[in-house]
Amino acid sequence: MRHLDATIADRYDLYIDGEWTEPASEIWQETIDPATEEPISSVASAERADVDRAVAAAREAFPSWRDTPPDERGRLIYRVGQLVRERLDELAYLESIDQGKPLSQARSDMRGAARYFEYYAGAADKLEGRSVPVGPDQVDYTVREPYGVSAQITPWNFPGNLFARGVAPALAAGNTTVVKPAPQTPLSSLRLAELCEQAGIADGVVNVITGDGGTAGAALVAHDSVDTVTFTGSVSTGREIMRRSAEHVREVTLELGGKNPALIFPDADLDAAAEWVAKAIFTNAGQVCSAADRAVVHESIHDEFLNEVVERASEYSLDRGVEDPDMGPLCSAEHFERVTQYIEAGVDEGASLVTGGKAPDRSGYFIEPTVFSAVTHDMRIAQEEIFGPVLSVLSFSTTEEAVQIANGTKYGLVAGVFTNDVTHAHRLVRRLDAGNVYVNKWFGDTNQTPFGGYKLSGVGREKGLEAFDSYLQTKNVAINLSDTADGSLPGA
Ligand code: NDP
Repeated sequence: MRHLDATIADRYDLYIDGEWTEPASEIWQETIDPATEEPISSVASAERADVDRAVAAAREAFPSWRDTPPDERGRLIYRVGQLVRERLDELAYLESIDQGKPLSQARSDMRGAARYFEYYAGAADKLEGRSVPVGPDQVDYTVREPYGVSAQITPWNFPGNLFARGVAPALAAGNTTVVKPAPQTPLSSLRLAELCEQAGIADGVVNVITGDGGTAGAALVAHDSVDTVTFTGSVSTGREIMRRSAEHVREVTLELGGKNPALIFPDADLDAAAEWVAKAIFTNAGQVCSAADRAVVHESIHDEFLNEVVERASEYSLDRGVEDPDMGPLCSAEHFERVTQYIEAGVDEGASLVTGGKAPDRSGYFIEPTVFSAVTHDMRIAQEEIFGPVLSVLSFSTTEEAVQIANGTKYGLVAGVFTNDVTHAHRLVRRLDAGNVYVNKWFGDTNQTPFGGYKLSGVGREKGLEAFDSYLQTKNVAINLSDTADGSLPGA
């Protein structure tokens, strides 16, 4: 089947040890275009035996990949980035049709994916240890070594981009990988694995097993021969993964979403703040862990800000992602139900539905850009992650109250401050419980900046050089230089 820039196979097998392999289950599940509800292709459903094969392939490939000179590893990883750029249109089309997002956003995700490979490729030969000055009788130094097999469980909101976010640093550090993409959006990960092979990365270094979380994901996380797990998704699944990993005392990196506040003060540029907040909640139909879910606005400018943001929301065009509208559908029928229930909960709890809230009369999992005002801090729409195009607007009267509202959820992923008072901004940055704080902008992260959460938003950091802490362990080496074997005890 030929779709514009991408050839999509009718059926995809598992990608294990550089081969396309039928699943032991002999079951293939349809992946659906969320804009039409029509199947795009069928994708293999892995079970435990397939996971065993993929992990065994990654384990087998590990020593040779670890021992590949780091400059050579870097060149191979860089080549993946180049191939992603060469195939940008094809990858963006695949992502758009499978996930639903507007084509231009899918292109931006794929440019970001290329950039992860490029950025981490450059770091591959700079992962240095340090020399520790413990005195004349001992040479002491550290080396940073890969863990081994890295399991990556990726979600459906940014599948290709998050594949690269995890796989690129894992490979640069010398690990091998088994990736389990979400069943709703497997296509870009399978294509990216092929590009890794085309770049010259050896068989078994990158494996992709498709299938559902309860079977393939759970078997991967529980596997004896996996050394580290990277997961992005919900808090409940993150907890389950941490529990299972505890049995193996294994490193986990968890990115578990947020309920992110944008604090808007009277001296802010209101037009710019409304523009940022609209972009921050309606991009990818709000299916973004760092979306601006809550606008926390000073009472003196509340009505003006609300008008500005509602005006923008009502101008959004909705269509199939591949038509490149302002906003596409939600990713799946299940998620459409979840977001719809939150909108109903907002109305039931007494918030004021100012715009949106409805599903347009057409096929696909579309929801209009939605804005609630008169939201109070205790409502579910102010506390729980909706993960849809639904903005909750709350008002505050004092800075103290704004900080209490901002910090008053179980999450702590990102927060934003809009003010033209630089002193006020810096003071607020210190008080906000969030792994990332934006001032007078949103989505301030780049591939180079560390990203991750406080509180239930997760553990560990992805992106930036901090990501290597998830993929490298430290070995300290102590060498005796003394001629006397005086047997002094540690700590003496
Ligand atoms: P989940 O956290 O349940 O799933 C994320 C991924 O993990 C999927 O691939 C899933 O597969 C897999 N998975 C599920 N159970 C296990 C397990 N026991 N072991 C290993 N892998 C597992 O998220 P949902 O997709 O159900 O979305 C629910 C909510 O989670 C969203 O509404 C949103 O609030 C949040 N979310 C946050 C994301 C973020 O970026 N932080 C990304 C995605 C979701 P399967 O789908 O087959 O269960």
